[in-house]
Amino acid sequence: MLVVSPIMSAIGNKGNKGQLDNLVLARSTIDRASDLRLHGQKLEELWQQAKILVMVNDRVRASDTNLIFCASAEIPSSQGEKYFLGIDRKDGQSYFTWHTNDEVIAEEELRTLRQVGALLSNFEAGLAVHAVALGNWHSAHPRCSKCGALTRVDLGGAVRICEVEGSQHHPRTDPAVIVLVQDENDRILLGHQAAWPPTRFSNLAGFLEPGESFEHCVAREVAEESGVIVHSIRYLGSQPWPFPASIMIAFEARTSDISTARPDGEEITELRWFSREEMKTAVQTGVLHLPPRVSVSRAMIDLWYGDCALEDLIEIGTLT
Ligand SMILES: [Zn+2]
Repeated sequence: MLVVSPIMSAIGNKGNKGQLDNLVLARSTIDRASDLRLHGQKLEELWQQAKILVMVNDRVRASDTNLIFCASAEIPSSQGEKYFLGIDRKDGQSYFTWHTNDEVIAEEELRTLRQVGALLSNFEAGLAVHAVALGNWHSAHPRCSKCGALTRVDLGGAVRICEVEGSQHHPRTDPAVIVLVQDENDRILLGHQAAWPPTRFSNLAGFLEPGESFEHCVAREVAEESGVIVHSIRYLGSQPWPFPASIMIAFEARTSDISTARPDGEEITELRWFSREEMKTAVQTGVLHLPPRVSVSRAMIDLWYGDCALEDLIEIGTLT
């Protein structure tokens, strides 16, 4: 029997004021049913009656707004791996992804998570994020990190096992912080990277280093990239970002001194402070393009802006 876990209930009850509670890639509603991964025979039975999402490299089979599933009997004979995604609590339906590097699906039926992530239902977004994250990790870890031997999938895709000495290798996720930096006049700080189109700006972000807390990482990354010293660091939310293997952990932070602000010239080549009015004008005149809706950065900017009346206007200035 399937039970609604306390975790799922907690997710469903989000909505704290001032928090990011509607992140596009953090909307999963499926029960991952991790206990079932331990039972090979049960997994095989679930596979036989599963709805299966075919994934080719890092793209999933989908229309513009929906995932496209198939039955196990329809899986091509090409080389591939199957990963258990979980069970729909409402009807007991099992879901898997089948991951291959062969071009077994027509090009027009393949979508990246960036393309469809914001357009899928909560349930399907959860499936797609899990599938892409697993697919990316398995693709990059065909061999054992201890002895170099080949590894194989086990526990429904939750681990890989070394074929020679049996060691288990678990999927890893690389945490990165992203920061909504605000000054004393309620302006926010956005940065531009050299590789981006000239009008694209986003929140400052960076990877957590070994032995570092999230809060220390926030202060260090902002200082390194912008020269700005921040305080009053507060957690806002998180969403998986499997491109290829991250999770973005969002914070807001404040600064009392903007005089030290200067781009590091390496990761960040330009910094700009925006009031709401300045952002509105910049978007209207085409000198600013905001991050895509699928990104946590965009959600942070929307949270700060806080005016739904700007929705249509900002859509014009959104990169896809
Ligand atoms: Zn090994």
